[in-house]
Amino acid sequence: VLDTSLRFIEDDGNHYQVLGIAYDLTRVRQLEAMQKDFVSNVSHELKTPVTSLLGFTETLLDGAKDDPDTLKQFLEIMQKDAIRLQQLIQEILQLSHDGKNISYDFQQIKVYPFVQELLHSYSKIIKEKQLSLAVTGNEQITYLTKYELFYPIIKNLIENAIQYAPNGGEITIHFALEKEFTFSVQDNGLGISQKDQERIFERFYRVDKARSRHSGGTGLGLSIVQNYTELLGGHITLDSHLGLGSTFTVYLPIEKIN
Ligand code: ADP
Repeated sequence: VLDTSLRFIEDDGNHYQVLGIAYDLTRVRQLEAMQKDFVSNVSHELKTPVTSLLGFTETLLDGAKDDPDTLKQFLEIMQKDAIRLQQLIQEILQLSHDGKNISYDFQQIKVYPFVQELLHSYSKIIKEKQLSLAVTGNEQITYLTKYELFYPIIKNLIENAIQYAPNGGEITIHFALEKEFTFSVQDNGLGISQKDQERIFERFYRVDKARSRHSGGTGLGLSIVQNYTELLGGHITLDSHLGLGSTFTVYLPIEKIN
């Protein structure tokens, strides 16, 4: 905001003051544009599964339901659409709060068993892709943090590594508690070009839209990771080389609560 005032005395001896205020609206306009983009992206993403659901219900009602094989096949597709909608809504909600009005409880997390349990929920795809996973870090470490924010960060990073690692790929998860808590996830997958690295944390940004959508990606995961890491007072780095793989590292502060 530019604030200038001009004082002068007229011939009649009276004192006058002219006040001028100019607002720089660049940032406001930028935020408005971002909001518009976000809404149009959200609508577009929601439309796809809804259109598919409507198409399949219509075909079923038109008679396709009478063939048991078609019925099963269509229901399976419709279930996938519904799961996608559920995931989108959950992630949009996760993104929509800035954490300011919510107070999360601190919890002591035993990091090693926490990671093992998380990996367990991906055992099917890990087996299918024949991935080899290594979890390194002191098994005794407990880290005090806000679980509701911490969990989605770790989950999204691990999920991406599993998703973007090639068949037979290797993933290394490392954590340490020193001056701060660090957690890194390294994969030997596709890697991310320098140009894409600059945009990867943007909402809905996907390097390969078709591939990401096919594997259930929404393009929201990393923006949630970045948002939550910052809410916890930390930061995230990415080291990646095309064709070689990526390492995402989250640095989080050590909380002291009395
Ligand atoms: P998505 O739901 O599509 O995975 P994210 O926000 O988690 O969305 O990631 C955004 C994009 O970043 C992905 O679509 C993918 O192109 C790229 N990406 C994320 N993690 C990795 C990774 N470990 N290796 C290669 N590319 C990745």
